[in-house]
Amino acid sequence: MNTQDFIALEEQYGAHNYHPLDVVVHSAQGAWVTDVEGNRYLDCLAAYSAVNQGHCHPAIVKAFIEQAKNVTLTSRAFRNDQLPLLCADLHDLTGYEMSLPMNSGAEAVETAVKAARKWGHTVKGIPQDKAEIICATDNFHGRTVTIVSFSTEPQYRDGFGPLTPGFPIAKYGDIEDLKAKITPNTAAFLVEPIQGEAGIIVPPEGYLREAARICKENNVLLICDEIQSGLGRSGRLFAFEYEGIRPDMVIIGKALSGGFYPVSAVLSSKAILGVFKPGDHGSTFGGNPLAAAVARAALKVLVDEKLVERSFELGNYFMERLRSIPSAHVVEVRGRGLWIGFVLDTKARPYCEALMREGLLCKETHDNVIRFAPPLVITKEEIDWAFDRISKVVLALD
Ligand SMILES: *Cc1c(COP(=O)(O)O)cnc(C)c1O
Repeated sequence: MNTQDFIALEEQYGAHNYHPLDVVVHSAQGAWVTDVEGNRYLDCLAAYSAVNQGHCHPAIVKAFIEQAKNVTLTSRAFRNDQLPLLCADLHDLTGYEMSLPMNSGAEAVETAVKAARKWGHTVKGIPQDKAEIICATDNFHGRTVTIVSFSTEPQYRDGFGPLTPGFPIAKYGDIEDLKAKITPNTAAFLVEPIQGEAGIIVPPEGYLREAARICKENNVLLICDEIQSGLGRSGRLFAFEYEGIRPDMVIIGKALSGGFYPVSAVLSSKAILGVFKPGDHGSTFGGNPLAAAVARAALKVLVDEKLVERSFELGNYFMERLRSIPSAHVVEVRGRGLWIGFVLDTKARPYCEALMREGLLCKETHDNVIRFAPPLVITKEEIDWAFDRISKVVLALD
């Protein structure tokens, strides 16, 4: 079977809820993927930052296979000997007292929403069913019905109602609007420290610091969605560190497994996660031993290979080089760490298609932004290689 055969099968038998580039990947290693024709590409998306550790990292493969031979799933009806170690590792790495494991990012967001609502009702004293969670414009937190209920993107919501109430929207980056939206019924403010899907939007300096202060003043929980920005992508372990704050809850996913397996978690304090009593919330696969073993290995790779520091240094280098491309179509190059929004004044899709023909995979976000987010194991030489292709394509399309 060749590329066209696979595409035809998928188009015929699979739902069309994505518009992928027409490359059919067969295998991958580190920052590189190989398609079914044997062509190699440098991966500059890293599965939306789920493979920060690089594809098929040998240490994670090893942990995966060893654990798969021991036990993969106990359900939380019984205990297993991997989950406690993951919870301890997450505590040691992040300083948060407790964690609650789930599978996908969206499930962890739902978990944080449930924790914040229950905290609002039982601890803060908000009248039953009145808890509000303020969200930001242009947010992305996943695709469940409740989560799309607080999306401001019409396509994510249209046709999927009735939607879940209780989510006022404040303009991202606008501290006055946040203040205006807080009421006695506000349980939490849910925000991405840097908005990924919106096009790598870094909020104004001081915004999160001020938001944290206002939340504290009003007894409102600050929840940071670090599913994409976290675990090294931004050049810090967490993007909120740039503002010197400490959110009440942090949501992680994606790179928590190095791309092997859906693993997510909510990190918080005993006081907040303590609102969950046995039976309040759960998941058959959440906290399973295979996921826990893989996540432990993935976190260890981040630390052992100093990927957070690497992201910071190489990100600055890559951004500086990209800013030097003398093209009239480049509006802005922005981002943090190896998480770069390359903003054009025209549609980005043709650029991504041209880059694919040059052996570099990336994806447009919001029409006119290309996101460059390679695995954090990428080398300086590979960045130079990528830069040469990007520069060539951008200038050719001028
Ligand atoms: C990807 C993402 C999610 C959703 O994660 P899934 O695993 O796709 O459900 C939530 N929030 C942010 C910021 C994300 O980037």
